[in-house]
This record gives sequence, structure tokens and C-alpha cells, in this order.
Amino acid sequence: MDSYFAPAELRHRLSVEDVLVRYPELTCDHEQYEDSLPDLPYLRSVLATFVRRLTTETTPWRWTRAVAEQVRRHPIYADERYAATELTGLPTLTKTALRRHPEPFDHLAEPTAVIYTDKTSGTSGAPLDLAYSQQFMSQSLYLEPIKIMIRAGLTGVGAGPVLSVFLTDNPSRGSGLLVPNLLDEVGHTLIVQVDPNDATSLNRVTDLLEDLQPEVLSSKPNLYRMLLDRWGGQRPFASYRPRLAVSGGAMLDDALRRAVADLLGCPVVSSYAISEAGYLGSECPYGRMHLDLSVHDRFEVLDESGRPATTGELVVTACANSCMPLVRYRVGDTVTLADDCPCGGPGPVLAALRGRTTQLFHLGGGAQLSPTRYMKLFELHPAVLEYQLTQTGDRRFRLRVELRAELPPQQRRESLAAVAAYVEAGMPVPVEIDCAEQALDTTSGKFTRFRSEVGNA
Ligand SMILES: [Zn+2]
Repeated sequence: MDSYFAPAELRHRLSVEDVLVRYPELTCDHEQYEDSLPDLPYLRSVLATFVRRLTTETTPWRWTRAVAEQVRRHPIYADERYAATELTGLPTLTKTALRRHPEPFDHLAEPTAVIYTDKTSGTSGAPLDLAYSQQFMSQSLYLEPIKIMIRAGLTGVGAGPVLSVFLTDNPSRGSGLLVPNLLDEVGHTLIVQVDPNDATSLNRVTDLLEDLQPEVLSSKPNLYRMLLDRWGGQRPFASYRPRLAVSGGAMLDDALRRAVADLLGCPVVSSYAISEAGYLGSECPYGRMHLDLSVHDRFEVLDESGRPATTGELVVTACANSCMPLVRYRVGDTVTLADDCPCGGPGPVLAALRGRTTQLFHLGGGAQLSPTRYMKLFELHPAVLEYQLTQTGDRRFRLRVELRAELPPQQRRESLAAVAAYVEAGMPVPVEIDCAEQALDTTSGKFTRFRSEVGNA
């Protein structure tokens, strides 16, 4: 495994204090770091499994009586059917079923343990409450960038003081977060907020990247697109060149992939993750998506009638997160399995993935709006059941909001006004918003929250 990392004498490190002195706008969750220290042996064993599985097929995981007993302590799996001894005999679980379940997922987690809770972003349906165990959170925070780099074929990983910078336009993160390295082999990870419509914010981030030279630059496709537009096809850095650019959160189209690779001068890989289960996989040097079985237990592809298929819906079983084990969970994306991959890595590997795409609004004069701005809407406005934002002109929008039925009239008016004000505040330029209450049909599967009737998107 050592061959994947830079030898100790070639590693350059910066202390957490040094980074925070240089970048006082960043925050660091020291408590979270302390809580993660006991997870180190677990992280090492997961990483060892990951590396072993790069070249070698491992014994398939099986749903056994012991697993069944453990999982059935959670109310959602208390059903007699989960006593079945074969995984394929168990029902599949949808996001809608999870969302409607009356009991929280952290129900029977050990009372002394740390539980991290979150909500899904609500970009694909109303938000879902999430719960992560300490260990699960740790492997997600500390191992994901390493796995992506190794899967992409990089060696000598971890020479620099900063392993990875994830750029986000989600303002709820604050200015940024420093996740100190836990494994000696690699440097820190940073999550940095950038507003591409604000020159000061953009310059701040460009300077930070030039200064800290992270090995990996990571972001979402819509943010990459906005950054490329802002940089106007010119390299914004004098000397910085990432070893790898990572795109995650939505589908990356070929044109954008080429543009990012050209501008940054490095390979670009797509990473595949869902909030409910974390990292599902990422691309090898041949551009094929390899699913990750170092943490997750089993992947299946099922057709519409629930039979195994080559093309169908991806279904994951992942029991590692003791707060929220997922048994035959329908991911909601359509995939096609490949027989094998030229890189020689064992499966499961995908020949095609048809996942989420993100609408980007062009508001004229170069101003752009990425709907990830509104990721916190459901959390901030719990009266909202669903909403739809449609662009009807360069700087004109129609906002339709479905509020909870039980809300009294006075509160309805207030909620509607508050949501309209929140949406307006997120716009990079002044826009006109026509706002009204409306019941929205989300059951057909054709519902899209963000739409444009302008035809410039
Ligand atoms: Zn491959």
C-alpha cells in the first residue's frame, strides 16, 4: 500500500495553526478531529481493503443471520421479511419510504456514541434526515479524496501540505472548513466557499489555491462551468497545477470535462456519491466508474420488475453506517454494468451512468445562478413541501410554492413572502419574481424543481 503514497522524506506538512493564521476565515472543528482519532485503525483497514480490491476480487459479501439480527434492531427493518437468509429475497427500499418513515434512523444507535446528523440537499426531492456514525463520518471525511486519487491512477499521493480543496458555492458552509489530516500519509483537506459572481471572493480562492497548491481540486459541474466562464479560458494561476480535478454531485458532460482538463492542465475524473451512503465510486484512468466495495457491501442493478439486469436502477446495500444501515436501497440512478475494464480492476464497474444533472440559469450580462444556492431552503422554511423555480425571461422568474396544508392563512402569506425573499436574496443580480402558492405534482417522476423557458441554459 505504501507505494501509493509519497515516501516520508518527501512529505511537506503545514500545521493546522499555520493554515489558520494564513487563512483566518477558515474554521476547524477540533472536537470532530479528536473524536475521529480512535477511528484510525478502522480507516487503515478500510484503505487496505480498498487497495487490495484495486487488483483482486474479494469474497462477495453475504446477508447472513448475524447481519439480519443487527440490522433488524432499526425500526425500518423490523419487518419479518428482513429475516430472510438471502439478500435477493428482501424488499428494496426507496427514498420516499425512508422519508415517510416515522422513526428517525438513529433510533437504536449506542447512546454514548457521537452521531452526526444532516439533511439531504433537497435537489432531488424533499430533504431526508440523515444520521452517520462516528466511524462512517470519519471514513467519508478522510478517505474519500485518497480513494479518488488512487482509483484515478495517481501514485506518490500526499507529498503536499494540502491534499484536496473542495470548492462549493453553498453559503451555509461559511467561508470554509479545514479538515486536518488524520493519516500521516496525506495533508489537510479544505472545503472553501466561492461566489463566482463576486470578484473578491473569486480572487481570494484563486490566491489560496496558488498558495496552498492542493494536489486535488474538487467541485461540482455547475460551479466548474461558472468558474471557467469567469476565468474566460485563461489559466488563473501562475504556477498552480492540480494533479487531478474531481467533479461530483451531478453528471459531468464531455465538453465540460475537456474544458476543465484543458484549463487546469490535469486529468479530470467524476466521483459518484449520494448523501445517504457517501462515496459510491469514481473513475479509473480509463474513465470507467468503479463502484467501491471497501465500505459498501453489495451493489445490484435491477430492472423495473426487480430482476437483476445489465441496465437498470442501481441498488446499494451498505450496513457500515450503524446509525443508518441501507439494505437494498434504490439510489434512483440508471446505470449500465460493464463486463470488465481495461484497467484490470475488478467490478462492479459501470459502462454508463445516467444520474442527476443540474440546471444553470443564465441571467444575461454574464450573470449566472446555480440552484445549489437554495440547498437550505427546506431547512430554513419548514412550511414548504415543494417549490418550483422557472426562468421566464433573462431576469424574470416564476416561483411556485406548495405549503403544508395545515398552515393557517396568515402564516401562509408570511411563509410565501419569506420564501420569495430568500430566493430573491440568492440571485446574483436583481430579478423580477412572480410568486404564488400552487400544489405541485411530484408523483409522476417528471417533476423538475428548476426549469428554464428561456432556452439559453
Ligand atoms: Zn477501470
